[in-house]
Amino acid sequence: NLDQPPEPLHRVSGNNYAPDNANSNRINATILSLVRNEELEGILQSMRDLERTWNHKFNYPWTFFNDVPFTEEFKKATRAMTKAEVRYELIPKEHWEVPSWINRDLFRESADVLKEQDVQYAHMLSYHQMCRWNSGLFYKHPALKDMQYYWRVEPKVHFFCDVDYDVFRFMQDRNKTYGFTITLYDSPPSVTTLWPETLKFLAANAQYQHPNNAMKWLTDKERRPQHNIDANGYSTCHFWSNFEIADMNFWRSSAYEEYFEHLDRAGGFFYERWGDAPVHSIALGLFEDASKIHWFKDIGYQHIPFFNCPNSPKCRGCITGRSYDGDAKLLKEDCRPNWFKYVG
Ligand code: GDP
Ligand code: MN
Repeated sequence: NLDQPPEPLHRVSGNNYAPDNANSNRINATILSLVRNEELEGILQSMRDLERTWNHKFNYPWTFFNDVPFTEEFKKATRAMTKAEVRYELIPKEHWEVPSWINRDLFRESADVLKEQDVQYAHMLSYHQMCRWNSGLFYKHPALKDMQYYWRVEPKVHFFCDVDYDVFRFMQDRNKTYGFTITLYDSPPSVTTLWPETLKFLAANAQYQHPNNAMKWLTDKERRPQHNIDANGYSTCHFWSNFEIADMNFWRSSAYEEYFEHLDRAGGFFYERWGDAPVHSIALGLFEDASKIHWFKDIGYQHIPFFNCPNSPKCRGCITGRSYDGDAKLLKEDCRPNWFKYVG
């Protein structure tokens, strides 16, 4: 079964993956993290887990991004967590600043309405900027120009299971575009016009729809939790993008570039609170071959309050099969069964 990971340590031999081996089996890939200086403790936690379970065997470089310069303290502490190369990159102003066509008054008025509908971070402008950057700009950073694959990591996440193969090579060898661990329903008011805008784009660009797309997954109604506001035809099920292992060539394709451009002009990154997760997920579900999207069921993962916790002796620190922490109503947010039903 080609979806199964390769034999343990298949590709780790001798010092092949030593950090300074210029001829190693590493491919063109980096771990990447957008993070604030204030989140140093949180990112050290994430690094500790990922290094322990995976990267100390493969030594892929870490690339940190920030809209302000990293402090010396941040650099020193993160460098000490890994043998691998570490890079610190400033986001160009033109990638981070609010686009000229966004009206600040309208942003604030819209945020008032979103807040009444319990949309988190509605008034936090930087959160909207972050979602937009993660949607359509990160892969345009000059530091990633020659980079193809990335593993996105956030502060304060946990990795529970030993992973003994080079996941980037796995992606390349099996011709995968995107890997996820968790899928969730989104808050409908945060994406009210995302699906209508998507349909407008599709009507004018039908050629971009992949014959083996996941439209049925995107528009499934059956399991959508009760909300008094509808997402206008989108199920809101999305790959939870605080974890992503993906091929940037997909984001660099004309289909995605034009789609992002369309969404950006429509204004919903600011007048609603479109997340990079639903934007990435819809694009993948429409423009990519669904068989190129991979569930990393073997990567034990937590970003509060959700888990992916496999049943395996390689995993420590999470409860097998557990998908959420705390309030049982969170269980209804998990939409993995919906993905399996339509895509397998
Ligand atoms: P949540 O997971 O949706 O609650 O959002 P987070 O606060 O975790 O933000 C998502 C990611 O973006 C994290 O990696 C944050 O460190 C990062 N992030 C969010 N806002 C900013 C910002 O204004 N500047 C920088 N440098 N990073 C940010
Ligand atoms: Mn987070």
